[in-house]
Amino acid sequence: MTNEKRIYLSPPHIGDREQRYVQEAFATNWIAPLGPNVDEFERELAHKVSIKGALALSSGTAAIHQALRIAGIGRGDTVFVSTLTFIASVNPVLYEGAEPVFIDCDFETWNMSPQALERALIAARKENRLPKAVIVVNLYGQSADMDPIIELCHRFGVMVIEDAAESLGATYKGRASGTLGAFGIYSFNGNKIITTSGGGMLVSDNDDALAKARYWSTQSRDPALHYEHSEVGYNYRMSNVLAGIGRGQLQLLEERVRARRAVFERYEQAFRNAPGIQFMPEAGYGRSTRWLTAMTVNPRIAGVSAIELVRALEADNIEARPVWKPMHLQPLLRKYDYYPHTEQFSVSDQLFTQGICLPSGSSMSEQDQERVISGISHLMETRRATHESA
Ligand SMILES: *Cc1c(COP(=O)(O)O)cnc(C)c1O
Repeated sequence: MTNEKRIYLSPPHIGDREQRYVQEAFATNWIAPLGPNVDEFERELAHKVSIKGALALSSGTAAIHQALRIAGIGRGDTVFVSTLTFIASVNPVLYEGAEPVFIDCDFETWNMSPQALERALIAARKENRLPKAVIVVNLYGQSADMDPIIELCHRFGVMVIEDAAESLGATYKGRASGTLGAFGIYSFNGNKIITTSGGGMLVSDNDDALAKARYWSTQSRDPALHYEHSEVGYNYRMSNVLAGIGRGQLQLLEERVRARRAVFERYEQAFRNAPGIQFMPEAGYGRSTRWLTAMTVNPRIAGVSAIELVRALEADNIEARPVWKPMHLQPLLRKYDYYPHTEQFSVSDQLFTQGICLPSGSSMSEQDQERVISGISHLMETRRATHESA
């Protein structure tokens, strides 16, 4: 084991304005959930991504859950979900007793394959069980190719929910990622590009739907002096203290995007000619934030596998991770249907076995990044040397 300090995958990066808003909350005793920071954070975020309304919630997962409630998802319903994602994209589907069906990605974007989506929609229509919604995930800071996805969903009359938890700050054809579907969700978990330590946001141009979700997420309190309830509700609102952190963080979003992209560019510079290494491509339709730098390692060419790299970096006290394990491979979810990119080939399976996410924090120093780069180079060179002498 090394004595060097740990380098994290994506640690929180706090600026100097957050404390002002938090202190304001303390000074005015707005420690409760709700309060002026929450209202302002919603307004400022909606303005930032150019959408009509936003609802601040306790997590991105809660935001997905509320979007599903708006879509009227319940027992016996089907929801299509990108397979290459974090489990939080799927869990709310299970909360409502609905059935997820998983859709593969393509190599060009690592996001939902329109081709697989079309096959799944055609098959679902034949069986008379079209999904009520499609949850499109925007992976590692990059928007999915939304035009063909939305076109397909319109053709089949299916609502589009964008899980933009990882893509706040990204664009698609000039528009903010997360604002292209009927509903979009963001996450402010500690590892995301900006954070409130924990929190989320539901965004939409549909004011009525947001008002409904606002009502549900405050325990469905009906208007009355006493406590009156006619629907199931949730305690899902963001606290006014945390919203203060979010207001400060939001002002830093552009800076954070630039920093993450600079981290990516240094990795790319270092490994662009390394045999067997390929970075997640940036699609031509927009800007990726490079929230996480992700790459694939072909073990037959590189002489080392992604997992070996993760382990070797861990031995140097560096946190790297395999690419998300696809949902259709999860023990919890294996029983549900899955549509690979082509009938014969699953792209996400290959990205999982060959993919690695490198430390990508916006606060990572160039020296720290040099430690990561030399750790990888060193292992690759050692492997090639043993291979050549064998
Ligand atoms: C982080 C994340 C979420 C969940 O957000 P929380 O705020 O942690 O609940 C959802 N989807 C994806 C793809 C994520 O990465």
